[in-house]
Amino acid sequence: MKGFEYFSPTRIVFGEGSVREVANFLLDEVGHEEDRILIVTGKHSSKANGSLDVLKNVLNRKHLCIFDGVEENPGAQTVNKVANIARAEKIELVIGLGGGSAMDVAKCVALLARTDHSIQDYLGGNLKPTGAKRGATSLPIIAIPTTAGTGSEVTQHAVITWNFRKKGYSNSVLFPETAILDPELTLSMPYEITVNTGIDALTHAIEGYLSTRATPISDQLAIEAISIIRFALPEVVRDLKNIKLRARLLYASLLGGLVISQSHTIVLHALGYPLTTFYGIPHGRANGVLLPWVIDFLSSGEPASWLKERLSAIVKLFGGIDGLHKFLSTLGISPKLSNYGVTEEDIPGFVIDVLGRRNLLVTPRPVSEEDITNIYQQALY
Ligand code: NAP
Ligand code: FE
Repeated sequence: MKGFEYFSPTRIVFGEGSVREVANFLLDEVGHEEDRILIVTGKHSSKANGSLDVLKNVLNRKHLCIFDGVEENPGAQTVNKVANIARAEKIELVIGLGGGSAMDVAKCVALLARTDHSIQDYLGGNLKPTGAKRGATSLPIIAIPTTAGTGSEVTQHAVITWNFRKKGYSNSVLFPETAILDPELTLSMPYEITVNTGIDALTHAIEGYLSTRATPISDQLAIEAISIIRFALPEVVRDLKNIKLRARLLYASLLGGLVISQSHTIVLHALGYPLTTFYGIPHGRANGVLLPWVIDFLSSGEPASWLKERLSAIVKLFGGIDGLHKFLSTLGISPKLSNYGVTEEDIPGFVIDVLGRRNLLVTPRPVSEEDITNIYQQALY
């Protein structure tokens, strides 16, 4: 067996209980009443579904700050703005409550709060990911997901938009101390967000399983995640308030996060990013649109036997390649970019966005500029 490394420092608390029980746990966890806490969340859903109120009430302390303005695909400016609040308020603990967007901002704020840096210093590569030692400067993070998609609650990754580009940043100080997963918080997701985020989780598992950095442990988690999502996602969209299915999906999304914390995502995520930046296609959906084309690309020619076996293991979980296509079309995901308004003229700009991304380095076959162009061309009509 090939040697491997597995590192996952986040304490995971998963409870199909009430939001209040989760919040009570939080109170025990953070301890002292004097702790200065910042909750980072999105604009609407955590207020609408009551989760923010529960946290507020249970934490009930003098030094509780709330930033409730995180946008989708959050920008560097937002991160820097919230980091300034954290500095001014001398925050000691950051709680990210929401989807990947809110959790990623919370993680980056924890990274910046005790420094004078902007997030661009890190995104631009001036400060190397290896430069910061765990716990040396960053604040502790508690991550509470309300979507079942990104797995950001257990990853060292954050994705921030800067200069019209989604930039992934990975640093072990970004691993949350604690992840609290309460399936009830995901019950309020409407159909579209349920599908989009579910597909994101699915592609984390698939890409992690195909990555050159896959490990025997992450492989088990990936197969389990794909198997769950394959059945639970088409079911939950017919029964959005089914807590058992919601719990399965939140669990699968957690597994997807654990997978990419080891193996990272591959070419599919890289290809999806410009669809989000330039056409506003939600992150998970963008991956879903391109998934069949990337499977096609990886299967073409004479793939190495390792890759061939893995591709067929994935496809088998859907009952064959037709089954995968049917799975996506049942969820309303068209694999044709023209259906989202993308035109031939967009492709060169997309290709520039993809080139040089680190995801390409862990993709299990070389990906040339021509390959990237061809994948987008094929996906067009
Ligand atoms: P999101 O951008 O966090 O949220 C999408 C939408 O869902 C928002 O409008 C949000 O509304 C709403 N929402 C969230 N929870 C809800 C709930 N329980 N009920 C109803 N609506 C809810 O979506 P996401 O897919 O979770 O995160 C995507 C981001 O994460 C992207 O930037 C992506 O690149 C990144 N990502 C990060 C990682 C990682 O490892 N760090 C991995 C994959 C993707 P409000 O904002 O109003 O709450
Ligand atoms: Fe993702």
